[in-house]
Amino acid sequence: MNRAADSASLDSDLHRALRTVESSGSRIRIDGRDLLNFASNDYLGLAHDARVIEAAQHALLTWGTGAGASSLVTGWTSLHQQCAETLADWLGYDTAVIAPSGFAANCAAITAVVGEQDVVVADQRNHASLIDACRATNARVRHYRHGDVDHARALLERAESDQPKRIVTDAVFSMDGTIAPLVELARLAEEFDAMLIVDEAHGTGVIGPEGRGASAAGHIDARVDLHIGTFSKALGAQGGFIAGSQALIDRVINRGRSFIYSTALTPAMVAAALQAVTIIRSEPERNERRAEHVRQIRAALGAQGWTIEGVDEAPMIAVIIGEADHAVRAASTLADHGIHAPAIRPPTVRPGTSRIRLAPMATHSADDVRQVVQAFANVRQDVASE
Ligand code: PMP
Repeated sequence: MNRAADSASLDSDLHRALRTVESSGSRIRIDGRDLLNFASNDYLGLAHDARVIEAAQHALLTWGTGAGASSLVTGWTSLHQQCAETLADWLGYDTAVIAPSGFAANCAAITAVVGEQDVVVADQRNHASLIDACRATNARVRHYRHGDVDHARALLERAESDQPKRIVTDAVFSMDGTIAPLVELARLAEEFDAMLIVDEAHGTGVIGPEGRGASAAGHIDARVDLHIGTFSKALGAQGGFIAGSQALIDRVINRGRSFIYSTALTPAMVAAALQAVTIIRSEPERNERRAEHVRQIRAALGAQGWTIEGVDEAPMIAVIIGEADHAVRAASTLADHGIHAPAIRPPTVRPGTSRIRLAPMATHSADDVRQVVQAFANVRQDVASE
C-alpha cells in the first residue's frame, strides 16, 4: 500500500473504477443484477437494523443533519459525550473521543502521541491510515515482517534505550484475515517500555467478549495504551473513535490535527453507533450466527482445495487466487452465480496473491452460505476446464 504503487496503478491494467450500487445490505443490486453481498464490512447487518435506523432518525430530528463545527468549537454534543462514555465503559478505558472516521481517528491518535525523536515499530501490513499517520510524524518508522514478533523485538533492540518507543499494529488485517500476535506484542511493549497502539477496526463488535476486540480476546486489553476503532464496520454506521487514559486522550484532543481541524461526526451517526453498541452487548447471538457462517465457509472452501489465509476468528475470508487477471475472472464467475465478492489486487495486496475477500454477515441465511460455497465450486470447475 505504498504511494508509488498507488500512483503506478493509475495507468496500468490494475486501474480501479467506481461501480454504482443501487441497493445495499446482505443483498445488493449492482450493474442491474441482484447479488448476495459478501463484500460488506457491515458484518452484523446493523446498518439496516430498524433500531439503529430509528436512533439515527431521532438524532436527525433533534440535532439536524450536520454537527456544524469541529468538536472543540460547538460540534461535540451531549450525544457525542454519551457515546464516548459508553465506549470507554465498554472497552475498559478512562475515556474516549470520537473522530469523523476511522481513518481520521488513526491519524489523530498517531500524530498526537508520536514525536519526531521516537522510534515506531509497525507491522508491515498495517492499514494505509496508520502508515500515512506514522509518516506524518517524521519519527523513525521501522516495519517488522507481518506478525513477526522476533523481528519486532530486533527492531526495538536497535533503538537507543532512552528513546521513546511505540508499537503500532492493526488488530485484524482486513485483506488477510490474520490477527496480530497481541499477547506477545503486549509483552514486548512491557519489556521495552513501549506504548502499544492498536487499531481494532475489524475486531470491534465481532471478536472477544462482548465484541470488545482482539485485544480483549487475548486478555491484554488493559495493556493497550490507545485503542482505536471505527463505527463503519460491525457497528454499521460511520465515524471513528480513540479510547485510552485521560492523559493520552487529552493529547489527542490537543494535538490530533485530523480531530481538531475537522467537523465533528454528524450526531445521527453517533446515535447509530451508540445503538449498535447496545445491540452488540445485549445480543451476542447475532455475532455467533456470523461466526458460524465464517467457520462453515472456510471449512467447505478448504475441502474444495482453495488456499485460505488467516484464521477462523477473523470476520473476513481471504481466498487466494494468484494473478490479478485470474482473480478478476473468479469474481466475474462468482457474480454469474449470484455472488458479489470483488477481486482484491495489487497494490492493496502483494503481486501474485490477488484474492477474493469474503465477508459473511449475520443477516445471511444458511441458504446464502450454501450458495456462496456452490459458487466457488463452479469457479473451480471453470479453472479446471481451461
Ligand atoms: N483501519 C482499518 C484496519 C481499516 O480497514 C479501515 C477501513 N478500511 C480504517 C481503519 C478506516 O476506517 P474508516 O472507514 O472508518 O475511515
